[in-house]
Amino acid sequence: MLSYRHAFHAGNHADVLKHMVVIQLMRYLGQKDPAYMVIDTHAGAGVYALDGDYASKNAEYETGIAPLWNLRDMPEAVKEYVDLVRSLNPSGKLRYYPGSPYCAEKIMRDQDRLRLFELHPSEVKILEENFRKLDAHAQAQGQRPSARGKRVLVYRADGFAGLKALLPPPSRRGLVLIDPPYEDKRDYGRVVEVLKDALVRFPTGVYAVWYPVLQRNESRQLAERLKRLGAKSWLNVTLAIHGPAPDGFGLHNSGMFILNPPWTLEPMLREVMPWLVQTLGTDDSAEFVLEAGEA
Ligand code: SAM
Repeated sequence: MLSYRHAFHAGNHADVLKHMVVIQLMRYLGQKDPAYMVIDTHAGAGVYALDGDYASKNAEYETGIAPLWNLRDMPEAVKEYVDLVRSLNPSGKLRYYPGSPYCAEKIMRDQDRLRLFELHPSEVKILEENFRKLDAHAQAQGQRPSARGKRVLVYRADGFAGLKALLPPPSRRGLVLIDPPYEDKRDYGRVVEVLKDALVRFPTGVYAVWYPVLQRNESRQLAERLKRLGAKSWLNVTLAIHGPAPDGFGLHNSGMFILNPPWTLEPMLREVMPWLVQTLGTDDSAEFVLEAGEA
């Protein structure tokens, strides 16, 4: 089932949490010189036009990036994320939103590698086209091309099935982002299964799973199942911007579950999450949960 289009949701509160965390995980990996690989198993289109038909339909970015756009005073990790979005909007008007592939490409260094899986035929075309445009722009500016050579590879393939062939990465340093649509509830089980296998192939990898916090059983149980996978350590963070809607529709709460998080992540989130709740929260039920553990 491939009906999901991330453009409807681009820049919402869930993207803020996800992309801010991904940037910080990559920053940590980049502190050491040896190359790392980022594998994005569900990449999406890479860049989204917020004034396009999809994104403007429900204007979900108004729950996420929009309230941050004109702020100057914010925690460092949020600023780094907002600055990255600003770099895509040099006119100063918020028009484009970077998906995880764009965020990763911006943060990675020359020696690092980015591997992108996308299964939706239209999304993968847009993704490839976006990287072609990035290359053309980089070339015009005399900068390094991103997609050419082996730096960035886009696979038109199932990210759950394709991951194992890339693990462990040659440098034995890497981040895997797993961000499925979950419209098919089997995605919850696939996440757990793919991580079980990945931890055998690459036990020291950093794994980041985005998930919606919903009433359905599969969603409520996912974090508990991930805690039991046997990774050396884990961190779970959720952000709710308000209480559940009476009709149960809409996404008000989402989480990032990280296996083998760097030690810097928890203190950073302890600083950032209360600020995000205060800034993005729209009622008294806005809250965050942050928990961490070791095997
Ligand atoms: N990671 C992106 C970001 O943060 O910008 C958003 C990804 S979106 C939540 C999920 C994407 O996964 C959709 O574009 C969908 O077409 C794609 N998809 C669904 N099932 C897939 C699969 N098995 N393998 C690869 N991509 C898949």
